[in-house]
Amino acid sequence: MKLFFDSSVFYAKPADISFFAWEKVNTEALTPRGAGTSLGGQAIGEGAIVDFRHQNRILGYEEATGRVRVDPGVIQDDLNDFLRTYGRRFAPDTSTSNRATIGGMIGNNSCGMYSCHWGTTREHVHRIKAMLADGSMVWFEPLSAEQLATKCAQNDLEGQIYRMVLDILEQYGEAILDAYPHPSLIRRNTGYALDVLYRDYQPFNPQGKPFSLVP
Ligand SMILES: Cc1cc2nc3c(=O)[nH]c(=O)nc-3n(C[C@H](O)[C@H](O)[C@H](O)COP(=O)(O)OP(=O)(O)OC[C@H]3O[C@@H](n4cnc5c(N)ncnc54)[C@H](O)[C@@H]3O)c2cc1C
Repeated sequence: MKLFFDSSVFYAKPADISFFAWEKVNTEALTPRGAGTSLGGQAIGEGAIVDFRHQNRILGYEEATGRVRVDPGVIQDDLNDFLRTYGRRFAPDTSTSNRATIGGMIGNNSCGMYSCHWGTTREHVHRIKAMLADGSMVWFEPLSAEQLATKCAQNDLEGQIYRMVLDILEQYGEAILDAYPHPSLIRRNTGYALDVLYRDYQPFNPQGKPFSLVP
């Protein structure tokens, strides 16, 4: 008996359809996936693949700041079609823009030919709502010194992440600057931008931008 109409775009009949129990989500690896166009298999992993392409709403645009709020599955070209009305575009011009999603671009710090001039994805993301490995939802965004101290004092996974990053930068900041690629090499997505945090952000650079885990 046929129970389901297969409307997937994968051209393969699912052998089974399963629903995750929350305990499974907590114990199994989840790999987020946008368009899956990464060149190094970044969207392939163990456990379940979470396909974000259908979470693709453009949620709001703020003309005063030029900031737009989107779901992670929004495709770059669709975002630029929307922004064209306001005479704007999302700066990084990835060549896979007709399918690459904003979530995938953030995951890869995607660039493009003109990103040497206009900047990479990380320079154009103001804040991110994210789910941590324990299932908690957090916002990553620029923080004042007081807000950063409050985050560090939290007795949860989010607090642990802030403490760990600051600790690494305090201990190894100079060594990181020595060992990471030269700042002029902006197209890189391996590891985390610890060098950028140490060089360009407070408290390590007192004249720098407010601390943020977005980059
Ligand atoms: C022919 C070709 C040309 C390319 N040209 C360029 C180029 O000019 N510039 C460039 O930078 N790259 C380029 N790429 C690489 C790639 O297309 C881009 O990096 C693209 O932006 C990735 O988007 P995606 O939606 O396919 O991401 P995916 O491959 O689906 O995911 C990328 C990463 O982000 C993570 N991720 C995805 N969605 C989420 C989410 N919602 N939450 C958390 N993590 C998430 C994934 O786990 C993965 O680690 C090219 C690739 C190809 C095949």
